[in-house]
Amino acid sequence: MTAAPPPRSPLAGWPGIGEASIARLVRLGVRRPEDFLGLIPLRYEDWTRVTPIGALQVGTTALVEGEVVEWREEPTPRRGDKQLIARLRDDSGVLVGRWIHYYPSTIAQLRRGRWRWYGEVRAHFYGGVEMVHPRLLDPRRPLPTTLTPVYPTVEGLNQGQLRRWVTRALMLIPLREWLTALSVDPEVRNALGELPPLPEALSVLHQPPPGVDPQRAEWQAARRRVALDELVAHQAALRRARLERQGQRGARVEGAAAEKAMRRLIARLPFALTGAQQRAIEEVTVDLSEHRPMYRLVVGDVGSGKTVVAAAALARAVGGGFQGAFVAPTELLALQHGVRLTEWFEGIAPVALITAATPARARKVWQERLAAGEPLVVVGTHALFEEKTPLPRLALAVVDEQHRFGVRQRALLRAKCVEWVPHLLMMSATPIPRSLAMAAFAELDLSFLDEKPPGRQPVTTTLLPMSRRRELVQRLRHWVAQGRQAYWVCPRIEGEEEASLSAAAVVYEELAEALPEGKVALLHGRMRPIERQQVMTAFARGEVAVLVATTVVEVGVDVPNAALMVVEHAERFGLAQLHQLRGRVGRGGGESFCVLVYAEPLPPLARERLSALRREHDGFRLAELDLRLRGPGEINGVRQSGLPLLRVADFVTDEGLLGPAQQLADRLWREQPEIAAELVSRWVPAAEWAPHA
Ligand code: ADP
Ligand code: MG
Repeated sequence: MTAAPPPRSPLAGWPGIGEASIARLVRLGVRRPEDFLGLIPLRYEDWTRVTPIGALQVGTTALVEGEVVEWREEPTPRRGDKQLIARLRDDSGVLVGRWIHYYPSTIAQLRRGRWRWYGEVRAHFYGGVEMVHPRLLDPRRPLPTTLTPVYPTVEGLNQGQLRRWVTRALMLIPLREWLTALSVDPEVRNALGELPPLPEALSVLHQPPPGVDPQRAEWQAARRRVALDELVAHQAALRRARLERQGQRGARVEGAAAEKAMRRLIARLPFALTGAQQRAIEEVTVDLSEHRPMYRLVVGDVGSGKTVVAAAALARAVGGGFQGAFVAPTELLALQHGVRLTEWFEGIAPVALITAATPARARKVWQERLAAGEPLVVVGTHALFEEKTPLPRLALAVVDEQHRFGVRQRALLRAKCVEWVPHLLMMSATPIPRSLAMAAFAELDLSFLDEKPPGRQPVTTTLLPMSRRRELVQRLRHWVAQGRQAYWVCPRIEGEEEASLSAAAVVYEELAEALPEGKVALLHGRMRPIERQQVMTAFARGEVAVLVATTVVEVGVDVPNAALMVVEHAERFGLAQLHQLRGRVGRGGGESFCVLVYAEPLPPLARERLSALRREHDGFRLAELDLRLRGPGEINGVRQSGLPLLRVADFVTDEGLLGPAQQLADRLWREQPEIAAELVSRWVPAAEWAPHA
């Protein structure tokens, strides 16, 4: 037998695109010709006109043309290195070019004589003007009539290639203006303002006339027009996902037994439900009793009590004679949910905790009971869906931290039972503001937990420079001597697990030395699940006083006696993530503390983020700030917010387009469905068509 050939890339056969470029383009988010359209230039270079050397102004960027009259290598004044110096002459003057890094080929090229140089004009050390590393352009080619875009790129893809491919995409893809042809309400028209037709907008972005740049209103209108296309496509896809679910059948959960099980669980909780929890539980109750499957997202700040809503829904399902699953993104969280639910479900239904740490024998027994259709609650990680275990009576799946739950898991979930499609209840990872959530998750029903359980004190938050870290270790010693517990979270090191781990190991050793024997423990992602479980249990029991951890503690961990959170290199974390970490403390009564240790010098944006955290304790407001306080091109905030990633549009910058996009998507499906479908296939990658279908 031969293996099936890998699917052919829609870019195969394009001039200059081979296997290697296909892989590199994927890293840029380009898989299909259409994706080139959404590659927005970072900036532009003006190669449209030649400036006489005599007229060059220091501080500007210019294109000049002349003869190379001299080139030589000379030692640099400061280092032992050499530099390459060349002089370019035209009728009006002489310009010095200087290369600090160069190849022998650069010298060979310069010998050719006539050149165009493009670069920033600087005052030369000895008087006159110079360009450092000017770009060498061929003087035999006609001058372009439009600006030359500079695209974001990855190693191995050069600007020339990207420009050629984008130009080709613009030529090959038939672009129709649909907006002007559509009957649009005057309010929507007003909200949109003046927008150029789509083909024109794309050409302003990719091939702007001289003088247009991202600061100009003309360019911004063009970007907005393209952003609108993407947002409408996104909305149209979500609407279609909703429609496609219309025919699905769920398991109807109703009756006195279901109600009784839920009441029993709620009565057992050591606290009264908040109003918001009650509302959410009512909404879920209604959904579960429908013949259509539920697709609901619970949006709530850290500590707002989402787990209770999940537990109530699960109690209802098992009470009604079905099975329920609770899946978490990490072993640690699954473990914790498992322990808590086992307590809450005592006498209501058995709780099967299946994690990597579950011994094979116990796992087998649970799997047999599940396969037999026994009504019980199963708690595990997403791996639960990968397993062969059938869950023939699964009526409800609760998914904690929805943004890590992919299309693939959804498909596996549906494959678990044949008779119906399980109800899906998801918990948001971060509190997304209401209007944003309604647009971004238009295919879901939403419940907002916008009320904190009573008696919560805000966590006192302080910033501390790294230079004062020793004082902090002293404070920690006193803290522990008083029988209190703390978390110490180590720096996030992007993409380098080894480095994160070694940083944590160093901190661990340092603290272990400063504190009494056995009081400090280390927790990291490379540990075996069973070891992690042991450490967590020891911490929860109070045997361990200080938990030194990589960011694995980030989500959902709940140990009320731990009232101090130290985050090292806090400047490397996003606001939302820091808020999540801080949410680990302040769960018991009494005052609690969060110390954000930062390295100096602290960049202004990072300072603003950290200070926001000191003043602000509301997760919804912080989430919004996090999205606003991003640097250009920084998508960390978006990724952690759980919002869908868009290519051109931005949920915050383009907030004003969200309302119109929703209406336009509606109207398109009704009046011009072929255009709606075209937009969806152009802007929404196939795998994400039906995000929660
Ligand atoms: P999150 O929304 O972050 O998942 P959890 O469900 O973990 O929050 O709840 C945080 C803490 O608040 C838990 O210790 C939980 O038992 C407690 N809690 C939940 N609801 C209430 C309530 N209505 N009153 C008091 N405490 C509550
Ligand atoms: Mg939680």
